[in-house]
Amino acid sequence: MGQTDARRRRLLGKLEGLRADAMLVTCPANVRYLSGFAGEGCLLVTADKTTLFTDFRYEEDAVRSAPGCQMACPPAAQLDSACMAEARAAGAWVVAIEAGEMTVSAYRALEQAAGEQGVALVETEQVVEALRLIKDADEIAAIKRACALTDEAFSDILKCLKPGVSERDIAAELLYRLRLLGADGPSFDFIVASGTNGSKPHAVPTSRRLCAGELVTLDFGCRVDGYCSDMTRTVAIGQPSPELARIYRAVYEAQRLGREAYRAGLPCARADAVAREYLASQGYGQAFGHSLGHGVGLDIHERPRVSAASTAVLEAGMVVSCEPGVYLPGTGGVRIEDLCLIESGGCSVLSQSPRELLER
Ligand code: ZN
Ligand code: ZN
Repeated sequence: MGQTDARRRRLLGKLEGLRADAMLVTCPANVRYLSGFAGEGCLLVTADKTTLFTDFRYEEDAVRSAPGCQMACPPAAQLDSACMAEARAAGAWVVAIEAGEMTVSAYRALEQAAGEQGVALVETEQVVEALRLIKDADEIAAIKRACALTDEAFSDILKCLKPGVSERDIAAELLYRLRLLGADGPSFDFIVASGTNGSKPHAVPTSRRLCAGELVTLDFGCRVDGYCSDMTRTVAIGQPSPELARIYRAVYEAQRLGREAYRAGLPCARADAVAREYLASQGYGQAFGHSLGHGVGLDIHERPRVSAASTAVLEAGMVVSCEPGVYLPGTGGVRIEDLCLIESGGCSVLSQSPRELLER
């Protein structure tokens, strides 16, 4: 990542409004975003320099992956006092902390170390996350690569989808293939939901075996350079019943409408309503119980939420999922999901796997 310097400058620009002159970054994804370093550690960003605090296990990686950062490896017991002493040495008397990322005991220890140095702490929320909303070129390239590997793994796995194969086997096979293709690892625990399990949006793969006439929903993704992909496809094993085929058509159309609506300037709540209203018109209003989408980046679920309650507005450079679903207990379910890069007049869909119903 060559853009970490620019990201840290953008963060410094935000600190004035927070009445802080430095920020202690402890959220691992935020540390990676601002420094490039992916190991365990925290980052102290001050006006003149950034210090990465880590330990012996990561020292070699840290030097290589975090250009432009000073390195410090204090003993674990002295980490808090070393951070606060560094802040004070840099002339920072008020240090912003990530309130949502700290346990009560960690906060108390830091507060004491700050007090000993005469440094004040100020609690902040979602400061670096707000910078991460709009992806830069390096981030978009990594997400595109992760989506391409996901497409490739999906095309490979289609051969394995046949009666008798268990959900767990499919999940294991997907992970193995993604690893072979060069992914860093999975972006979350995969969902493989067949038959009536399909009515559970976040079903955990079981030993249940695929049967002819059923649908199977695969929701999976991988990481490349830390960045996630996230895709869902629902496939028929043999010929589905007219009811399942009708559900599929409704979700397919809702997802198409969602993707076609996505563009910079569209309120997230409005985007959600486009898909939701269509599914309601087809009689599935109650069967779509989750939001239409979410941001994706270093975390699998980031802001913005594309939901009815969201006050966010889509902006160019955001990467969000479009994933309507219909879930009918006792019958099954369908979800179709793609990641979309928001642009001024529309969006680019980052996954290429076919969306029409595939029968295996
Ligand atoms: Zn997903
Ligand atoms: Zn998703």
